[in-house]
Amino acid sequence: MKRLLERNVVVKDWRKTPVKVALVYPGGYRAGMTGLTVQLLYHLFNLREDTLCERVFLDGSKPPRSLESGRTLRDFDLVAATIQYEGGYVELLKGLRDSGIPLRRSERGDRHPLIVAGGPCVTANPTVMEDYVDVFAIGDAEPFIERLVDAYRENRSRKGLLEVLSDVPGFYVPGFTENPVERAWVEELDKAPHPTAQVIPLIDEGSPLCPVFGLTLGLEVTRGCGRMCLFCLASWINMPVRHRGLETMLGIVEEGLRRTGVRKVSLVGAGATDNRWLKDLCQHLVSMGIEFSTPSLRMDLLDRELMRLIVQGGQRTLTLAPETASEEVRRLIGKPIPDDRLLEVSENAYEAGFKRLKLYFMIGLPGEDRDSLEGVGRLVDKLARTGFRDIHVSVNPFIPKAQTPFQWLPLASRSYLTEASKLIRRSMPKGLNVRLDILKPAQAELQALLSLGDRRTGRVVEYMALSGGGRGALRRAMKIAGLRLENVVYRAKEVEEPLPWDMIRSSDFRLLKKLYRKLESELVR
Ligand code: SF4
Repeated sequence: MKRLLERNVVVKDWRKTPVKVALVYPGGYRAGMTGLTVQLLYHLFNLREDTLCERVFLDGSKPPRSLESGRTLRDFDLVAATIQYEGGYVELLKGLRDSGIPLRRSERGDRHPLIVAGGPCVTANPTVMEDYVDVFAIGDAEPFIERLVDAYRENRSRKGLLEVLSDVPGFYVPGFTENPVERAWVEELDKAPHPTAQVIPLIDEGSPLCPVFGLTLGLEVTRGCGRMCLFCLASWINMPVRHRGLETMLGIVEEGLRRTGVRKVSLVGAGATDNRWLKDLCQHLVSMGIEFSTPSLRMDLLDRELMRLIVQGGQRTLTLAPETASEEVRRLIGKPIPDDRLLEVSENAYEAGFKRLKLYFMIGLPGEDRDSLEGVGRLVDKLARTGFRDIHVSVNPFIPKAQTPFQWLPLASRSYLTEASKLIRRSMPKGLNVRLDILKPAQAELQALLSLGDRRTGRVVEYMALSGGGRGALRRAMKIAGLRLENVVYRAKEVEEPLPWDMIRSSDFRLLKKLYRKLESELVR
């Protein structure tokens, strides 16, 4: 990537700083700099005087180089990768290959950097990558930084370091960890560090490199979500939901705006609407004349006053996730929002000044039938009648995720998903400005495999990385790995059968079982 000018870049002296960390994002700059994860990790590592941290975006450059000093991954002591989506596994291995680092951990030695991975995907199920990653950080990022760097400084031999880390809470070290790993988490967000000197690219907002929400200060309002929908990974691996207090948030805003020079804030957190200070925060931002944007909002908690404030903050797109057109299916998946409530929210939002509506639906959900699929078009039509003329409908196959109560469910078959997509497409109201995007079943298949697979699935990732993917690559890779999709993604699992991720306790397994059994009994009724 061409050298980019940025504000708040941290450049440290390579000769004087003992620990060098490459912070790897398996994707391009725009995606990586949207959201707070890269900013937070960059801040946390660089807070330590003995550590320098540089960002490496795996955007296809060969070899990938750090933005700060142009060094390659081989030059660093630690490679810390944050995996936000399963496709990141393939990108990570491509990045190692292009850096001349052996992909398999068994082929790496003391002269290679230690490969560490964290993020929601590995917190749910790290086993897919356990032949490739040396150390997994299970849970929130904050508790790991000190533990990792301290251990690294005390143990220069790879084996010694891995042994030590395997005894540190939250780390999963394949080949060394013997007992189940409990997720590490921050109890009070108010006491956790939050970056204020965030890195801001000095580019035009129209640039293809500009983060998705523009040049903004990211503010994490809430971690997790109190709704706990049964399919939702973000809530189950972040329980209990935690909030930042008003005073802390205002402090971050004040200092953050001063240090970044931006005039816009993006509020972060799946369950931001749960935060009881959200309205006060929005009110303050409005009174300061600061623009802000919010993530997808909970329909059960969204009232007129909050909507008015959000519009005053400059946001014109309302994002809602009804998930399905059927009230009964919504109840089964743990999101019992009635249609009337949806329509009321939409009506109020239009009145408040929202101009665009973005809707998320899933297909292949338990309890779904033809009527609920065709109902998507009817529901969109009703929502359009509340006033919206610009509607974007996004449909994704439901992908069961490890560590959620739906982890035992299968992915719906390709033929079912294809047929369901057609029904939804046909059901769309004519003559309205509705944009419809549907994720292809083949993409869902790969995502499900990487979510639900075991150690052998890693060979599939390796094949995809080395072969460059392409048509038929997944089937070929499965054959080489000796795996059948039918067994991994298209089969409902028995509740008592061993799961690849049993070793990882990111969620409350007893509760997951109870909720899944309840669903099973409701489905056979
Ligand atoms: S409301 Fe949204 S973020 Fe919260 S649990 Fe449900 S799907 Fe997840």
